[in-house]
Amino acid sequence: MTIVTGKIEPMGTMAAEHGLIEIDRVRKSFGAHAAIDDVSLALGEGHFVTLLGPSGCGKTTLLRMIGGLETPDSGSIRIAGTPVASFSPIDRPTRMVFQSYALFPHMTVEKNVAYGLQRRRMPDAEIKTKVAAQLEVVGLSEKAKSYPSELSGGQQQRVALARALVTKPRVLLLDEPLAALDLKLRQRMQAELKSLQRSAAITFVYVTHDQHEALGLSDRVVVMEKGRVAQRGTPAEIYHRPANRYVAEFVGDISVLDGTVRGTADGGARIETAAGLFMASGPAVRPGDKVHAIIRPESVRVASGDDGTGANRLRATVGSATFRGADMLVEFRGPADIRIQTSIASTAPEAAAITPGHTVTLELPATALWIIPADRNANASESSL
Ligand code: ATP
Repeated sequence: MTIVTGKIEPMGTMAAEHGLIEIDRVRKSFGAHAAIDDVSLALGEGHFVTLLGPSGCGKTTLLRMIGGLETPDSGSIRIAGTPVASFSPIDRPTRMVFQSYALFPHMTVEKNVAYGLQRRRMPDAEIKTKVAAQLEVVGLSEKAKSYPSELSGGQQQRVALARALVTKPRVLLLDEPLAALDLKLRQRMQAELKSLQRSAAITFVYVTHDQHEALGLSDRVVVMEKGRVAQRGTPAEIYHRPANRYVAEFVGDISVLDGTVRGTADGGARIETAAGLFMASGPAVRPGDKVHAIIRPESVRVASGDDGTGANRLRATVGSATFRGADMLVEFRGPADIRIQTSIASTAPEAAAITPGHTVTLELPATALWIIPADRNANASESSL
């Protein structure tokens, strides 16, 4: 039997990039609780980096330490080679944008934006030019004389961005900046943020618990779990080659085939599961290893024929179907009660036949069946991106 695989590079071999921000063995506890537990990361210059994870995993604490607003108990954080702790507040190469905007309510938009430049004692004429240019960039020139209370949430967040960007920081730290906005506005602001980051060529470190936001915006994603780094990589690496089950489940829907490795080849393995033998791709494993083979719903295909035999195929019955607008998320039940999720475009011809109890043949391509060793430790202690 031959193994069909795409080109899979071993995990963790992404070329180390020059780290503008170097976080080395940082720990931070509040009382007995370790909010950040031995994190090492190098964040590359000019990247849009997202810290992604559930509530309480330590994203904000790490962001605040990068910004010098919180001090590590041990370890060090350097920006462009200089320890964060040695910058005075006014000289810090970082600025922070919060979910709550944190604008001065008694100041007009232009005064809010001018504030940081005035603190630097910049000449008035220069401040005026820079503020006008920055308001133009965020599309708020006409609101220069307005007060924050006269603006919508999205406009207030743009003022907060303008206020942070006008001082030309090397690093902009953003703590769930769009969380207070409704879905449509959030999507628009996401696109604006991305283009702002590109045009300003500033390193953004962005905190969110929203995986869609993280995958859509970022050049690099750091997935966090309980104060540690679970995985870091490009959005595609995190999504298609998760290092462990925690990451796989956090960034999207998955189906899992539990099995034992029966044979290996370059970039893949043959796995025996309760639903039969499957070829899968992934990191190096050995015969006898227990593994999870995971697959995303969009990679599962409903075969046109009824033949359930053959490589990477199984017979399964529709359990439930959830209409999601553009597609349907369908849960199939296979042999040994294995559950496989598929997404089927609402407009696809086979969509009409997807009714509970209907039996089909599913194809799980080897290139999309990704192996995770069952005993893989969730945390990677050192990461460079
Ligand atoms: P969220 O998305 O809810 O903001 P987070 O991932 O940003 O969560 P942090 O705010 O960094 O998480 O908090 C990490 C842990 O540290 C949590 O358990 C939190 O309760 C705790 N923590 C954070 N700041 C403090 C503080 N000032 N005092 C005590 N505990 C704190």
